[in-house]
Amino acid sequence: MTREKLAGVLPRAALDTGVALEQIRPVCEDVRDRGAAAVREYTARFDGVDLPTSRVPARELAGALAGLDPELRAALEEMARRVRLVHEPQRPAGHVTAIADGARVTERYVAVSRAGVYVPAGLVPLPSSVIMNVVPAQVAGVGQIAVASPPRPDHDGLPAPAILAACALLGVEEVHAVGGAQAVAMFAYGTADCAPVDVVTGPGNAYVTAAKRLLAGTVGVDAEAGPTEIAIIADHTADPRFLAADLVAQAEHGPLAACLLITTDPALADRTEAELRPQVASARHRDTVRAALAGQSACVLVDDTEAALAVSDAWAPEHLEIQAEDAAGLAARVRNAGAVFVGRYAPVSLGDYLAGSNHVLPTGGTARHTAGLSVLAFMRGIHVVECSAAALAEAAPHIDALGAAEDLAAHVAAVRIRVGPGGRTPWNPPLAQGPVGPGGRPPWTPPLAQGPAPASRGLGPAGPGEQAASRDGPPIRADLVGRAPYGAPQLDVPVRLNTNENPYPPPPALVERITGAVAGAAGSLNRYPDRDAMALRADLAAYLGHGLTAREVWAANGSNEIIQQLLQAFGGPGRSALGFEPSYAMHPLIARATGTRWIRGARDADFGLDPDAAVRAVREHRPGLVFLTSPNNPTGTALPLAVIEAVCRAAPGMVVVDEAYAEFARDGAGTALALLARYPRLVVTRTMSKAFALAGARVGYLAADPAVIDALQLVRLPYHLSAQTQATARAALAHAAELLATVAGLRSERDGLVVWLRGQGLAAADSDANFVLFGEFADSHSVWQGLLDRGVLVRETGPPGWLRVSIGTPAEMGAFRAALTEALGGTQGPGPVTGEPGRRPPGGSRGVAPPDQHGGAAR
Ligand code: PMP
Repeated sequence: MTREKLAGVLPRAALDTGVALEQIRPVCEDVRDRGAAAVREYTARFDGVDLPTSRVPARELAGALAGLDPELRAALEEMARRVRLVHEPQRPAGHVTAIADGARVTERYVAVSRAGVYVPAGLVPLPSSVIMNVVPAQVAGVGQIAVASPPRPDHDGLPAPAILAACALLGVEEVHAVGGAQAVAMFAYGTADCAPVDVVTGPGNAYVTAAKRLLAGTVGVDAEAGPTEIAIIADHTADPRFLAADLVAQAEHGPLAACLLITTDPALADRTEAELRPQVASARHRDTVRAALAGQSACVLVDDTEAALAVSDAWAPEHLEIQAEDAAGLAARVRNAGAVFVGRYAPVSLGDYLAGSNHVLPTGGTARHTAGLSVLAFMRGIHVVECSAAALAEAAPHIDALGAAEDLAAHVAAVRIRVGPGGRTPWNPPLAQGPVGPGGRPPWTPPLAQGPAPASRGLGPAGPGEQAASRDGPPIRADLVGRAPYGAPQLDVPVRLNTNENPYPPPPALVERITGAVAGAAGSLNRYPDRDAMALRADLAAYLGHGLTAREVWAANGSNEIIQQLLQAFGGPGRSALGFEPSYAMHPLIARATGTRWIRGARDADFGLDPDAAVRAVREHRPGLVFLTSPNNPTGTALPLAVIEAVCRAAPGMVVVDEAYAEFARDGAGTALALLARYPRLVVTRTMSKAFALAGARVGYLAADPAVIDALQLVRLPYHLSAQTQATARAALAHAAELLATVAGLRSERDGLVVWLRGQGLAAADSDANFVLFGEFADSHSVWQGLLDRGVLVRETGPPGWLRVSIGTPAEMGAFRAALTEALGGTQGPGPVTGEPGRRPPGGSRGVAPPDQHGGAAR
């Protein structure tokens, strides 16, 4: 029973896109040539409304949502939740494949920047279409999503209210009142009202389908949607009432809908026919149903389920229901179908709305080669090829042979010019070596492969992630493959200014107190420590003030562990967290480790955060957690409380304000602790690593509503804070005043450094922390290396061209200034850009790019 044999036997409505194609061609060309004016004219002509702009005002979206029937709203919300759940795991993890020593290919999946979703108006508006298209785009991480739907004269020329409400519900802010081919052309070419998109998805009538076919190439399109169809494989165990109901349900979509009952049981065929009579007669859209069932619909009698499967595979239905013995076993053998519905309680109607599966499915037999709509429609894989000189030399003989066979001599030459005629060349040093300073490499200079961002320079030895891709590596989680661990270099350098530590060791009186406290705790180390660290939490609450008590404070091993616990409790698989970069690079790394999807928001060019932009990002992505770092690392900037409040008001989940550097803020910068009473989902994290000079003890803490702390108890490991840690932290808190006295000195040292750097013609970001971000350098790495060659270690982090220096003692800062002056004036630079090696013109553009992505978290 092959497709060829069955062709012409099995019914299916003919769809002549060719005719429509010729009709819509001039429309599309006109929109291309005249933009918004053409869209306006076609909208007036085809939809009977004259709209000065296609863009639906924001107040209409908000109004539609406010007016949405609460039951429909709850249903749409549940539908979106389920669709999101099913589509989250579709996002492909990248892979890294080690091809040879020093050669690897990374496959990185990247979302398109802008997507257009078409939502047809049809006889009844289909808000479910909004959800089925927009949610996968959001899960993919598409930056901008625009929706177009035909205007309705009965709604003041706006799209149907239910469609507007569904858009608002999902946080879509850009909706256009445009339908038909002109909408697809608007998306493809762009108009004054609507920027062009990268991909258009969504079902539509024959004109929309034709426009997608015409414009594929100018814009990416999803599969063509034709008339809907169902096949049901049923045996004697099936209930004819259910079969009839599902056939009627499919047929009510339109007179061209195709319904195929494939059964092994002639009696069942008769009984289903008998059931159909009353059900069709009482159907709300009975004329449509009758037309569909009398047209391209049939009952196919087969000998056995084997034959039933063969018929179905040959027809390749959009929807396939299996209501037969061992339905799951049969479903596992289906080769061609858009979606399969297994057993009597999984009807297609469930899939249309609430299964969580996508209902945008291939029709017309295209299920043989095409899948339903998924996150992949909005993403592309990019191969990133890296190769060392040695690995290229190894591949060269094969490239010689292939280039010769294809007569492409320049291809061969492009390789040979790098590796020489004989393969490896002495003049081509291995990639993993960096530039060497004058007088050779000082003893503290590391080989570059151990440097702060190994992946950005040469390949070096394979990292732990890469092993997974090799045949013998351990079976590491796919999303960890190719990742590098956190790796701020720990080098024995005279002046260490790279991890934002407090340069002043604990004073002798405190050392003595800690020693006594730890000795006291040592006597009962046979017992587990206080699991809830109540005494420490009470001390921390007293230190924080703001009326906080131990119930509202929680402590862990560094604020990194605090962040991990927050992500475990409030993030995790299927959930997302949003941060505004450049920011603390451990937030995305910990998010990833906990299976939480990380969404990158952006700070503005001055490293600040515009409240409207922040709120927009929150509304668009609806993350489980929002991270706001204030003062921010690595830029140093503190956020105004108004920004934090705006985010608290908009966020559907938790808002975490990371205040690791709060004590260093300039006067007037508030603390989010003051907002806690008003926002029960706000969390403020702090650390004893910085102001308390206690980085080695690993103590971080947070203040939040007690219910938040109850949630953290569910994920923390029992007895996570050792007795010695608790004793040490309490001892340090008893010396708070003395320890915090160093903070004032560090602040004035920092302010002096900012002034000095600017006096040197460099850019320095305003800082509320114990570090300063400075730049901008054409080659910041050679400046970093120049400093290191002079015994000063700073941090390569932040936007390209910038470096971060922690504030040290006055003597250390003197050494830093001297080393920087020398490095910039000396011979370290890669070549002059503006007369001075390695330096960019001051006041150059502040490109804000993500911080280094190589585990190079700022610490
Ligand atoms: N948050 C920020 C913004 C940081 O910069 C750091 C460390 N540098 C931390 C949290 C983590 O600090 P710890 O784990 O030492 O408490």
